[in-house]
Amino acid sequence: MTGPLLPTTEASCRLRPVTTARIGGGLLGARQEANGRAAVPSGHERLGAAGNLDNLRIAAGEHAGEPRGPVFMDSDVYKWLEAAAWEYARAPRPALLEAQRAVTAVVAAAQRADGYLNSMVRERYRDLPWSHEHYCAGHLMQAAVAQSRATGDKALLEVAVRFADHLVATFGPGRTEDVDGHPIVEMGLVELYRETGRRDYLDLARWFVDARGHGLIEKHGHEPTYFSDRVPVREQTTVEGHAVRAVYLTAGAADVALETGDGELLGALRRQFAHMLATKTYVTGGLGSRWEGESFGDPYELPPDRAYAETCAAVGGIQWAWRMLLATGDSSYADAAERMLFNGFLAGVSLSGAEYFYVNPLQARAGVHPDENRSPAHGRRGWFDCACCPPNVMRTIASLSAYLATTDDDGIQIQMYAPGTIEAQGVRLAVDTAYPWDGVVRVRVLEAPPREWTLSLRVPQWAHGAVLQGDDVEAGEYADLRRTWRAGDEVELRLPMTVRTTTAGPRVDAVRGCVALERGPLVYAVEHPAADDLRFEAVTSAEFRPGVLGGVTVVGLAVRVREHHEEPWPYGPDGHGSPGARAEVAAVPYFAWANRGVGPMRVWLPDGRR
Ligand SMILES: [Zn+2]
Repeated sequence: MTGPLLPTTEASCRLRPVTTARIGGGLLGARQEANGRAAVPSGHERLGAAGNLDNLRIAAGEHAGEPRGPVFMDSDVYKWLEAAAWEYARAPRPALLEAQRAVTAVVAAAQRADGYLNSMVRERYRDLPWSHEHYCAGHLMQAAVAQSRATGDKALLEVAVRFADHLVATFGPGRTEDVDGHPIVEMGLVELYRETGRRDYLDLARWFVDARGHGLIEKHGHEPTYFSDRVPVREQTTVEGHAVRAVYLTAGAADVALETGDGELLGALRRQFAHMLATKTYVTGGLGSRWEGESFGDPYELPPDRAYAETCAAVGGIQWAWRMLLATGDSSYADAAERMLFNGFLAGVSLSGAEYFYVNPLQARAGVHPDENRSPAHGRRGWFDCACCPPNVMRTIASLSAYLATTDDDGIQIQMYAPGTIEAQGVRLAVDTAYPWDGVVRVRVLEAPPREWTLSLRVPQWAHGAVLQGDDVEAGEYADLRRTWRAGDEVELRLPMTVRTTTAGPRVDAVRGCVALERGPLVYAVEHPAADDLRFEAVTSAEFRPGVLGGVTVVGLAVRVREHHEEPWPYGPDGHGSPGARAEVAAVPYFAWANRGVGPMRVWLPDGRR
């Protein structure tokens, strides 16, 4: 196995990713199976049906007609190609390789002689804030690198290199000084530099990062906040504007900082990430609280019902967190990535694997009107008019094994717990766990060199009372074991899986007086016809139920349910209305909601204990 992020040997990494890990079952393994079985093949069909491939054929002069769909249609093709590459690395199947080669040929045929490639844009770079030309290029580069690493094919890499050469010749100081309204080309260029050794790609990525915040978008007549162009990246102290744009930019900037050893840039990114976590992140790890502009809100503006929390923003958040982990070694970034992965991200795809949410609110009421293509009130959908999220889910799930472990000079750090194997530095480890349903993680040494090294296990921030080999270990740190390991050695980490009741700080007004339930890395939700009318009293049980939602731990709750009557005036003196009748309801992992139809759901429950 290989991975989407391979820092060069010169990169200033505190940790390096392990790219030979494999997920062998469990929750994440099941998601990967469904992704490979259902999502990747259906994505290929959708690209045909929605016109993405025809658009490229028209651009190549092979078909007549007008291209259709939004301006970033090509990017969906590239994200699918990236997903197909990682899926091929995970589970090689000849038909999938054949499909990748056929789609790659369609892409290659649409490329212009000078390297430019876009099937939608008529006049190049006239409207870069909106045209997504660099955005599509960035996704092409990521897909090309994936294909090269996962299959050995170089056809897409050659296309991406020609496009990157064209960008280097066209943009930068003394050439066209402009930036794309939607970042990602920064990450794409850095990864292409890592794959090809071409330093000018890294230089251009750095220029794109530093060019932001200097009025380039405003020159086109746009308000710059939406485009992450109000403040230079090095001076910014928070995240703002369109959430996906913001976190793609910071992830790309983190790549630049890793490869150039730019401590000032990394410091700015640490500040921004910390402010995002402290003031602009949902308990699910969801990012972006406004439908308006698909954007971050003001600090602590985190309404659960109107949360946007785009699935793509969770993808970008994980990518940013992972880069910060590699740069700093700070396990809190892995904690953040895990929260985003198991909640805000996984909620974006159905258990069957091929139906998606674009928007991931923390509450759905009865009687909501699905006023928009993206509205979760429709339930999960197979595709969207704006189809950014589905292939983004596919490429992320197919490459999840790249997020399991890291290394440094001392040894190996296990960052995410899933059953499977990890290989690095001449060491082979087998991980046996039913995480996140169970907190016991057993790591067995299958092979080890005859020297001392350190095995580090991330103890999540929530895991107070964790025990490693019988000894208490601190939550929010790595637990280290250093010795000369031998084949057959085994260690056992026990993470406490008690259900936690979580409250929000006083500034999160939207959920004051409410509790959320968490167990391990999972945030829970009550999905129940009476969800709009209940008040939480106590946790009564937690039991793994293999027949529920593909096998999840169901948390039983004692609640009071007030029968709903539409009142002429819903306000009244303190404590008005009846307390409601006692009842038991089940809470399920938030990621699994809306797999049995869509109905009332809430993560934050009014607290009836006081
Ligand atoms: Zn999206």
